[in-house]
Amino acid sequence: MSLVEAEPRPEIIYYKAVKLVSPERAKRLSLAIETPVFISYYQEQYRKCANCDVVYGPLIYQPSKVVLAEHWHEDEDSKYCLGGVFYDSTDAKPMPIYLWTAILSPIGSMRVHGSERRARGVLIDEIKINCWLCPLDGTVDNITEGFVVGNGDLTPICSPEIHPELAYQPNLSFKVTENNQVLFSQV
Ligand SMILES: [Zn+2]
Ligand SMILES: [Zn+2]
Repeated sequence: MSLVEAEPRPEIIYYKAVKLVSPERAKRLSLAIETPVFISYYQEQYRKCANCDVVYGPLIYQPSKVVLAEHWHEDEDSKYCLGGVFYDSTDAKPMPIYLWTAILSPIGSMRVHGSERRARGVLIDEIKINCWLCPLDGTVDNITEGFVVGNGDLTPICSPEIHPELAYQPNLSFKVTENNQVLFSQV
């Protein structure tokens, strides 16, 4: 019996870059909501499936919620379909530092084409948040509370006191709860 223990393999993390949009911006995307919501960083537009001409829109990504793709072909032959929820994985490359990153678990059937991954759906485990004005080089921890600035596209900052260079006072704060919800309140 060998006493040499295998190195534990690093856990693979599945993630996608998301952005936070204001309710006004979301309404323009035909998403009827009252609070800011997370949508894909890359898919904000409506898209037409090249396989079957179905048109599908952006999805809302909320912690603890399963997000199912609006459009998805189960058969592998539908290679021109770009439906499904796109995501990335740390087995291909290290996770980049985004302002808002959804950590997720893929659900249902999946496709992998090189580094591109898609699934029928995902469960959003949590949203990792980085301050826009602090260094984005991995030396600063994720923040679990702070403020958002901007209009349509909402950007997180840790605190206006830490960043006096900010020319205006934020009017919305956020807090990540113990069960990973991101709650917003007016300041
Ligand atoms: Zn289709
Ligand atoms: Zn900061």
